[in-house]
Amino acid sequence: MPADITYLDYNATAPLRPQARTAMMSAMEALAGGGNPSSVHRAGRTARRIVEDARAQVAALALCAPDEVVFTSGGTEANSLAILGTLASGQFERLIVSAAEHASVLDTATAAMAAGADVSVLPVDANGLADIEALAHDLSSDPRPALVCLMSANNETGVIQPVSKVVGIVKDAGGRVHVDAVQHAGKLPFSDVSLAHTVSLSAHKVGGPQGTGALIVRGKGGVEPQLRGGGQELRRRAGTENVIGIAGFGAAAQVAAEDIAAVQALAPLRNAMEARVLASAAAILAAGGHAAQVIGHAAPRLPNTCCIAFDGVSAETLLMALDLSGVCVSSGSACSSGKVARSHVLDAMGVAPDLARGAIRISLGWTTTADDIDRFCTSLDQALTVMSSPRTPMRAAGE
Ligand code: PLP
Repeated sequence: MPADITYLDYNATAPLRPQARTAMMSAMEALAGGGNPSSVHRAGRTARRIVEDARAQVAALALCAPDEVVFTSGGTEANSLAILGTLASGQFERLIVSAAEHASVLDTATAAMAAGADVSVLPVDANGLADIEALAHDLSSDPRPALVCLMSANNETGVIQPVSKVVGIVKDAGGRVHVDAVQHAGKLPFSDVSLAHTVSLSAHKVGGPQGTGALIVRGKGGVEPQLRGGGQELRRRAGTENVIGIAGFGAAAQVAAEDIAAVQALAPLRNAMEARVLASAAAILAAGGHAAQVIGHAAPRLPNTCCIAFDGVSAETLLMALDLSGVCVSSGSACSSGKVARSHVLDAMGVAPDLARGAIRISLGWTTTADDIDRFCTSLDQALTVMSSPRTPMRAAGE
């Protein structure tokens, strides 16, 4: 990371871990003379060994058997394979997705619905927690077996779902659970999540390269391939493996598994940052009758994640001001085609639109220091002070 950058956007992409970089460099060296992991000659066997070593490292992180790891191009493909592959198995007649899932789950569910699947959305409460009573009621009032998708930790708010409880309810009703653990991996132990039938992982959230991930499939079965034309990954995902990316994923997964305590130790730093931001924002914004709020603060949250919303402030303008100070954070809303869309997660939690428009996400990681947090807080105070001055419009033009 360049010295002039304070990177607090780990939930978007974590920095590449040195061990992942080293593993990819040696994989590149090993493959310099060729070698497809499906080839039986010695060059092929070298590539195969790299993939299988990484598979064992990912399995150790996810508490599963190596042959339950299906390498994919990332978390998005893993979620898509879990949903479409499970529905294609013909064993489940309904799909239930929580309202706060990542777009890769929600958009896949929408596509499945357009193709005729029976899809329903499980609401979340004001803290972002899935409504378990509503789920239990839904499952008991419709006996058809359901696939239930519940992320273990939310990328925007860090809110942690009660996965083991949900797995118990769904299994008792004859259903199956898919867990998107992309944000959970490397931040919390895997114990609860390993109860789910399928689990998604993404390399770049644990310090590996972008464009690689995995779907864990318990018992190896019940998920039909969505990519065909090759026997790779035990016929569950066709296509020559991304050997170099997988090497980096494996190395990152190993360090991430060893580093969970260090990530958990970030919670006091995150909590102190939140207290400081709330206090200074209250002082700065009070004159305009505005306030700040930590989203999901009453729920269990990832130790590294903070989603804080500033009433009456434009998150986009705030992000630009922070970027000018060399601080990288995310907004709580998605920006596509030049238009700022409201966050579906904050909408599902019932956050007032004016507050949601001023939401930013700060996500810490293994390189974060108290100095980084100090620089962020100072830059934020300066930006809020400028933005709340009577001569500065609080909203970006055109919003
Ligand atoms: N699921 C969650 C919760 C995520 O945060 C992300 C990425 O932001 C994904 C899935 C998609 O992962 P990838 O970027 O590897 O496709």
